[in-house]
Amino acid sequence: MSATAEPALLDRLESILGVGGLLTAATDMAPFLTDQRGLYHGNAIAVALPDTAARVAAVLAVCNAERVAVIPQGGNTGYCGGATPDESGGQLLVSLKRLNRIRAVDALNYSLTAEAGCILTDVQRAAEEANRFFPLSLGSQGTCQIGGNLATNAGGVHVLRYGMMRDLVLGLEVALADGRLLGTLTTLRKDNTGYDIKSLFLGAEGTLGIITAASMKLFPRMVGAATAFVAVPDPHAAVQLLARLREASGECVSSFELMPRLAVELTVRHIPAVRDPLDAAHAWYVLCELTSARAADDLDTTLIECLEQARGTGLVVDAAIARNASERASMWKLRESIPEAQRRDGASLKHDVSIPVAAIAQFIERAGAWVRANVPDGRLVAYGHVGDGNLHFNLNQAPGADRATFLARGEAVKRAIHDLVVREFDGSFSAEHGIGRLKVGELERYAQPVELELMRAIKRVFDPHGILNPGKVLR
Ligand SMILES: Cc1cc2nc3c(=O)[nH]c(=O)nc-3n(C[C@H](O)[C@H](O)[C@H](O)COP(=O)(O)OP(=O)(O)OC[C@H]3O[C@@H](n4cnc5c(N)ncnc54)[C@H](O)[C@@H]3O)c2cc1C
Repeated sequence: MSATAEPALLDRLESILGVGGLLTAATDMAPFLTDQRGLYHGNAIAVALPDTAARVAAVLAVCNAERVAVIPQGGNTGYCGGATPDESGGQLLVSLKRLNRIRAVDALNYSLTAEAGCILTDVQRAAEEANRFFPLSLGSQGTCQIGGNLATNAGGVHVLRYGMMRDLVLGLEVALADGRLLGTLTTLRKDNTGYDIKSLFLGAEGTLGIITAASMKLFPRMVGAATAFVAVPDPHAAVQLLARLREASGECVSSFELMPRLAVELTVRHIPAVRDPLDAAHAWYVLCELTSARAADDLDTTLIECLEQARGTGLVVDAAIARNASERASMWKLRESIPEAQRRDGASLKHDVSIPVAAIAQFIERAGAWVRANVPDGRLVAYGHVGDGNLHFNLNQAPGADRATFLARGEAVKRAIHDLVVREFDGSFSAEHGIGRLKVGELERYAQPVELELMRAIKRVFDPHGILNPGKVLR
């Protein structure tokens, strides 16, 4: 865009967005211009804050005509730099934070319709007020937005039972690059009428359109929960325990999270009020939770009996059962604080991988051996949603290690881990965090050529002038 076009563009955007709808001062824009991991620092012509879907669409129409790139942003909690503009200062950041109304909650239809800028916890609360349950749950849920969750196809701690964000969607409203509004905001459970266009926007990270609202599935509200923090001898035992718990509980397992000793040590050391629920130290742990919508279900007994049996066969070493809501919350705080504890402990190298559940233990063994042999200044913190085969295979710098030297190993470590995941374990190098800007090269390396061709063809159809989040997902 030319320098002379800029004031005219800003005037047009201001007239679309109304009072308070456009930020141009550097100090006002600053909070939107760095990603949450601090990997990218961008610039922008302005930050647009549309408060209606029509305004989002009108902004896109202008930007498409002027060939101005648009970067959608939700809660800015994404791990791959997808919501950060580039350094040029020529892109427009569109924050959805003011588009934040719950449009409808239909308890009988078990559905809820929310605008993209709704914070995830607000959606969960709206469902609860109608005696219903919205299952998406992430460590960032107090900040991330439904639009961001849809655009990244977020996962979290309930995927095992309810699926990823994609599985929770009934309909979408999307502002397209040319300013048209695609209104497929249905709450139907069945609708086999041609191509499922809406599914293309899920996981597209804002490269095909800006999601303005979604209708989503609700479930019966959970009234009972049983939670245990379990020491297991190794990851193989954890996977076997999961299979047993699923059988024993009749599919009541809603979360099953694996973590190594070091994750517990880091959270206890760095996060106030976190404590180890068990007296002795153990190599590996599982945080597991059963939930039910039936008040009569005795989940504690089911859980305890299953754990006792598993102890008898050596799958469980020790366990603490949460006796009340506060103990349950404290176990979850330990689990949810691992990313923050890692951050406070020093530099880290992160990999969000998935492998078939049955191969998790073998993968940790192989990849762990590689790390021990090749990264003398790193310590492995491999934890995550093991019930979904999803590991956050992270390395933290060892105490006293030089930060720069450790970080300089990033490329080599990434290559070894991702090659092992994709080429030897048939896994994915990005399980739930997406591609953003960070993993564009990885997608090019590991996707089949025909997949990339189709992705590029789809991008051209939806965004012929390449204004939507350029440089993210695809180059
Ligand atoms: C502590 C912590 C824990 C986390 N735990 C998990 C976890 O368990 N599982 C998981 O999957 N992720 C997790 N994340 C990552 C992150 O929270 C998710 O990816 C989340 O879905 C991002 O939502 P957001 O609103 O912050 O999106 P942003 O970061 O703002 O944006 C993410 C991407 O979506 C695009 N986008 C945003 N809004 C829209 C829209 N309305 N229309 C089109 N495109 C849009 C952006 O351009 C960008 O490409 C965690 C992050 C943190 C900080």
